Amino acid sequence: MDFLRRCWAEIDLDSIKYNCEQYKKYLGDSTELMCVVKASCYGHSDRLCTPFLQNELGIKWFAVSNINEAERLRNCGITGEILILGYTPAEYADDLVKFNIIQACTEYDHAKRLSENCKTGKVRIHAAIDTGMTRIGLEGGAEECCDTLEKISMLDGVSLEGIFTHYAVADETSGESEEYTKSQTEKILKVDDLLKAKGINLPQVHFLNSAGGIYYYNSRSTLARLGIILYGLYPNPAKSLPFEPKPALEFKSAISQIKYIEPGTTVSYGRTFKAEKRIKLATVTAGYADGYPRSLSNKGEVIIRGKRCKITGRICMDQFMCDVTDVPDAAVDDEVILIGGEGENRITADDIAAMTGTIGYEVICDISHRVPRIPKQK
Ligand SMILES: *Cc1c(COP(=O)(O)O)cnc(C)c1O
Repeated sequence: MDFLRRCWAEIDLDSIKYNCEQYKKYLGDSTELMCVVKASCYGHSDRLCTPFLQNELGIKWFAVSNINEAERLRNCGITGEILILGYTPAEYADDLVKFNIIQACTEYDHAKRLSENCKTGKVRIHAAIDTGMTRIGLEGGAEECCDTLEKISMLDGVSLEGIFTHYAVADETSGESEEYTKSQTEKILKVDDLLKAKGINLPQVHFLNSAGGIYYYNSRSTLARLGIILYGLYPNPAKSLPFEPKPALEFKSAISQIKYIEPGTTVSYGRTFKAEKRIKLATVTAGYADGYPRSLSNKGEVIIRGKRCKITGRICMDQFMCDVTDVPDAAVDDEVILIGGEGENRITADDIAAMTGTIGYEVICDISHRVPRIPKQK
């Protein structure tokens, strides 16, 4: 079946290229880019974006959340290094070897089990160090981490190639957050120093995420794990960046029906919207099953023919209605912009996040699998 013009996302690879090139300017020569492409490139489609990142932009490092995502990348033709940032049960040790994937190691026991389960070679690992995120990684002080890493380095079935950590508040503005981030950096660098003193020189030591690479750049991070900025969003919209990232995704839909309703008429489930005057109403073919938040009911806006239109009544699973009284030309099959647009008439993922009480990251990741991703139509 051909592309159904119902509800879709247009991905602009030129914007991804722009964001990548701008970001690179803030990194020193000792730091390579690792593109974080988990959750299918934050909803932008791994199939569409990762071959472009590798073949057009020359990216050699990729990070995903789990082994299924890693295997998908190999099937997309990705030959570069792939790091799994999250946990993989030890029973998959041989799959990690087979696909030549680097695994984050969460603790000594994880390394030991990976080692014991691996029958076909050595599982390549980067050990996570918990420096303050309290999510995954080796616990304790720098000395204790160093001792554990030394033990890990002696296991037969794993090959320790790096250590990494993750910032908790690199995108925040308070002085306390700044201190916290600096202490996280200090800890991982101390671990690295202690390892070096023992003669263990790891090729990779990394701790920069999108925000970290800009606000806390440190040349000792061999990789910068670029996620959100690659896709054109701010790590924190309240904190400025030295360049304006270009959002790479537009979320669009179409009008399926136009009608005029009289005062007193109610719209959608629960009858939460009641017309106070005669209204020109459009029905749009997108809903919460497409990842358009239901909490935008009676609250959100969309753009039709360059004009902002208010959502009327509750958003349904597959459809919603909006007020197009001020768009006299609005007609069936017109394009409806849910996220995107230009200038004054632009709705960003961060705008939607602000209205729905979340972050831009979640808004783009929530666009569902039902929504086809296509290259931007130029
Ligand atoms: C998701 C993630 C990143 C990317 O974070 P951004 O804020 O999107 O740049 C980097 N490192 C780890 C460990 C992650 O989980």
